Amino acid sequence: MTDIKSLSKEELKNEIKELNLPAFRANQIYKWLHKEGVSSFDEMTDISKSLREVLKEKFSISSCEIEDKYVSKLDETVKYLFRLNDGEYIESVIMKYKYGYTICVSSQVGCKMGCKFCASTLAGFKRNLLSGEMESQLHAAQKDLGIRISHIVLMGMGEPLDNFDNVIKFIRNVNNENGLNISMRDITLSTCGLVDKIYLLMNENLPITLTISLHAPNDEIRSKTMPINDKYGVDEVLKSCRDYYNKTSRRVSFEYTLIKDVNDSRENALELAKKLKGFNCHVNLIPVNDVEERGNVRSSEKAVNNFLEILKSKGINATIRRTLGKDINASCGQLRRKKQESEQI
Ligand code: SAH
Repeated sequence: MTDIKSLSKEELKNEIKELNLPAFRANQIYKWLHKEGVSSFDEMTDISKSLREVLKEKFSISSCEIEDKYVSKLDETVKYLFRLNDGEYIESVIMKYKYGYTICVSSQVGCKMGCKFCASTLAGFKRNLLSGEMESQLHAAQKDLGIRISHIVLMGMGEPLDNFDNVIKFIRNVNNENGLNISMRDITLSTCGLVDKIYLLMNENLPITLTISLHAPNDEIRSKTMPINDKYGVDEVLKSCRDYYNKTSRRVSFEYTLIKDVNDSRENALELAKKLKGFNCHVNLIPVNDVEERGNVRSSEKAVNNFLEILKSKGINATIRRTLGKDINASCGQLRRKKQESEQI
């Protein structure tokens, strides 16, 4: 069955037309699905019972059930383990900032990219998420917490550009004024650097923020932790970012996870500054989160601050990302793996 929540507005209109129904029905149904976030046709109270039965025969509605929930005592960060309709698990994190609530959304069950420091790839790749499943993460969290989410970061499990079409549809649906009405400017897409897809994204011309998981100033270091670097090297990634900026005028960000003795030296900072010279961008420095199975060690506070100062002294915009949800394993991928392990026993 087709997931009706994963249709674009146009696709939904066409489906409704094929059922010989008047066009306003598509608007009604779209609002129920995307604004109200219903997970059953019976909740669509202004639609007749007979029509609901017709819809039930043809469509399903994707949803996220809360399997586990962890609330940080330190900063109110909430982490969810959601169960999808087919029994797969994904994770989402809600963070509270001064400007509102941000959700970190998963785009795939697992991940193929194999980054050495990341928990999401440990349990392997299972499947892409439908756009409706990405959106359901927002609906489920909003309902549970009684809040409105205003910002989205596609930084949960998975590589969003490896699920390109569904991610684009998700962005358009959450942006729709008859849906969650989230501004494109408040949506950030994070990628490990799939250059071919960065160009495809550029052509979509969406005013979202693109952020690149760079984590190293050169190929030698980057290839050690990120297998994708053997396909698209640092210079190629940086060129695509410059092209992206020139076409969209949207400033690109770089994430740089600092790992002790791997990528946190003075030379590393100087090399990074040199590569980014003259490029209007922003660097987010992130002290690596300990993932039990990974054994990476965080850079010392001093090393992180030194790195920051070197970048700044060379004219590069850079900040250190505040760590949220430290007490609840808020970096994604860890809960799904634990759940899988417990179910195998
Ligand atoms: N696949 C996408 C988005 C998901 S990961 C990407 O690679 O960008 C979101 C961010 O968290 C990425 O920058 C990723 O490199 C980073 N990350 C993964 N594991 C981490 C860890 N243990 N500590 C700190 N950051 C981590």
